[in-house]
Amino acid sequence: MGSTGSIGQQSLDVVRQHPDRFIVDILAANNCSELLIKQAKEFKPKVVAIANEKHYTELKDALNGLGIETVAGDKALAETCTRQETDMVVAAIVGFAGLRPVVEGIKAGKHIALANKETLVVAGEWVMQKAKTLNVDIIPVDSEHSAIFQCLEGEKLNPVEKIILTGSGGPFRGMSAEKLKNISPSEALRHPTWSMGPKITVDSASLMNKGLEVIEAKFLFNLDPSQIEVIIHPQSIIHSLVQFTDGSMKAQMGLPDMRLPIQYALSYPQRLSSSFPRFDFAHFPSLTFEKPNMSTFQSLALAYQALRKGGNMPCILNAANEMAVHAFLNHNLPFLHIPRIIEQCMEKIPFVPSPSLSELFETDHLTREFVNSILKT
Ligand code: NDP
Ligand code: MG
Repeated sequence: MGSTGSIGQQSLDVVRQHPDRFIVDILAANNCSELLIKQAKEFKPKVVAIANEKHYTELKDALNGLGIETVAGDKALAETCTRQETDMVVAAIVGFAGLRPVVEGIKAGKHIALANKETLVVAGEWVMQKAKTLNVDIIPVDSEHSAIFQCLEGEKLNPVEKIILTGSGGPFRGMSAEKLKNISPSEALRHPTWSMGPKITVDSASLMNKGLEVIEAKFLFNLDPSQIEVIIHPQSIIHSLVQFTDGSMKAQMGLPDMRLPIQYALSYPQRLSSSFPRFDFAHFPSLTFEKPNMSTFQSLALAYQALRKGGNMPCILNAANEMAVHAFLNHNLPFLHIPRIIEQCMEKIPFVPSPSLSELFETDHLTREFVNSILKT
């Protein structure tokens, strides 16, 4: 799901390296029909789905006669995840739009390799509960969560004291609020260590990415918010750490390359060989750490607040952030107004303490309408 994006393309790269292990049954994207067609011709899946129906005719005509089924629209795209032949869904659509395919996949008993963190931010309770009931594995692809998942292997009986999520600090690490006032989208899109899609790159610059990851970690590993710490580690070599109740800490390290956590999620519990570049201590004489500045980068503080409040609050935070980031990327909102919009939404949108899945869809919709009304004025 999201095969044309940064994670999607790297997932296909992993498949290319292990053609004996993996078969691509489905490819799905939104707008990049040209790349989707190219991928379909290379991987020959059973079905190709495009969310944006405008591109359907082009897709259908290009794949005509190749024995590949084509479908269009959000609903048909999500339904491809229920097909019998599929074992695992790689959830790599960006934003709230990635939730529905994961929901359908879980209901159909498919294991999930989860890159789309927004899924757990919005509906963490529902997703983890349903997965448990149906014996579905949710295997994290997000590098920090993959690191923690790897550190927890073989530790089933050992209680965790806390986890420490590392973050590079993004391109604006150490900058004052004054300096951040006139940041442009192109400056925010220049990430120092990772190459990713535009939305998550802006989230990394505002530290909202770390905020979303704190919420993601809470649901994945069933922790209290007080057990989740964030530390800035500019070199992005230590991907995260777990501290156990005896005080011992385990970390997972490697060069920043998403193909590694993707491959691990696809082959878990096995490790497959890879030709990805190796870490060399000679190139990194020092690994450094510092506390995040939550008064300048308020989005991280807001995420902790939403997590502590619970209910539909993380869903409100997520929808407001998606809308605000979109407006910022279109030069319609200053960078520092992103947290202001989120804060207003968290105050104004009705709070639901134990939302159902349909109430979460409603919350997302209401929040987006409210942000549109703020942006208009
Ligand atoms: P990209 O923007 O690069 O790719 C997003 C993908 O989602 C594209 O294939 C896009 O299709 C598709 N898409 C977008 N909207 C829809 C929709 N409404 N319906 C169907 N498909 C849609 O994002 P990334 O790959 O960077 O990120 C994907 C997810 O993984 C995000 O949730 C992100 O937080 C998470 N993640 C990413 C990391 C990274 O290194 N990139 C690291 C950790 C997590 P199209 O291109 O055709 O429009
Ligand atoms: Mg991450």
